[in-house]
Amino acid sequence: MIRILVTGATGQVGQELQALATAQYSKDIRGENAYFLAEFEYFFANRSDLALDNIESIKNYFANPDLAVDYCINCAAYTAVDKAESDQTSAFAANSDGVAVLAEECDRKGIKLLHISTDYAYHNGQNTPLCEDDTTTPQGVYAASKLAGEKKALAACKNTIIVRTSWVYSSFGGNFVKTMLRLSEQRPALNVVFDQIGAPTYAADLAKALLDIIACIESKKDSSKSDKNSTFAPFGQVYNYSNEGVTSWYDFARAIFALKNRACEVSPIRSSQYPTPAARPSFSLMDKSKIRQTFGLQIPHWLESLEVCLRLLP
Ligand code: NDP
Repeated sequence: MIRILVTGATGQVGQELQALATAQYSKDIRGENAYFLAEFEYFFANRSDLALDNIESIKNYFANPDLAVDYCINCAAYTAVDKAESDQTSAFAANSDGVAVLAEECDRKGIKLLHISTDYAYHNGQNTPLCEDDTTTPQGVYAASKLAGEKKALAACKNTIIVRTSWVYSSFGGNFVKTMLRLSEQRPALNVVFDQIGAPTYAADLAKALLDIIACIESKKDSSKSDKNSTFAPFGQVYNYSNEGVTSWYDFARAIFALKNRACEVSPIRSSQYPTPAARPSFSLMDKSKIRQTFGLQIPHWLESLEVCLRLLP
């Protein structure tokens, strides 16, 4: 049994992990000579159990001698992108300083850390798919706090994996898909930006991918120790993850309405016509080769996953 602590359990990704736990998601991996069945046992922590912006709270949580876990998936974060512009202290307290302490505690207890970060870390003006080694020039407080947290996690915990993701939505929580569905009931027409290009991420797919990464690591643990030629060294690195394909927010909105048979008309507008306190990257499509190849992941196309999510929404 692989024991996993999920922090930020009430967020979109956290709730998808809870749903997978309820469904008893397990992973059967075909190794070189045998099948490896990964079964997971979960410990879910919400903000009142472990507050990322409160160092004592993190330390107290990990001080519990009964806490015996192999992995920590950190889904907790200050995610109010625009609010962060006027609340720098809170954003950095959770996303940077809190993550540093979480990573230190994981390292001290020999826990492997999977930490989620953001495509906003790049924001480098590039218009070809972003690779993990590409320049990071985050613009805005949230983006800067998340990149700072990545660096601190990698420095504090040797067994850290950073997963940068983008445009996350789910049937849980608040997100673009649910906002569009709500607005389509209130208005006959909507304007949506067409000059921000990227790929949506269905949080259920991301949650599965995180468990599959853990299963892959566990399946290779013994063989990579005995095989001196093994090049499998997944920790201390950044990986990109979103659904496959590419779209704009405008096309994403149109797809939502088409799949849900909503009559709401969508008009394309430029980002300059929809100013927000925090700047958004105009291009944040990420190259997923590294995560696919390292962990053998199969990533669904965004449209396919959108259909799955919309079936769960009224
Ligand atoms: P949500 O906003 O849905 O959930 C965030 C979670 O973090 C909630 O459970 C929230 O608790 C918790 N949280 C917030 N502040 C604190 C704190 N100080 N201490 C402890 N817990 C806290 O986020 P997502 O699930 O969408 O995001 C998961 C990860 O993905 C985050 O790291 C985010 O930065 C990253 N990401 C998200 C994207 C998106 O579009 N949503 C895009 C790219 C990356 P509570 O419910 O109590 O508020």
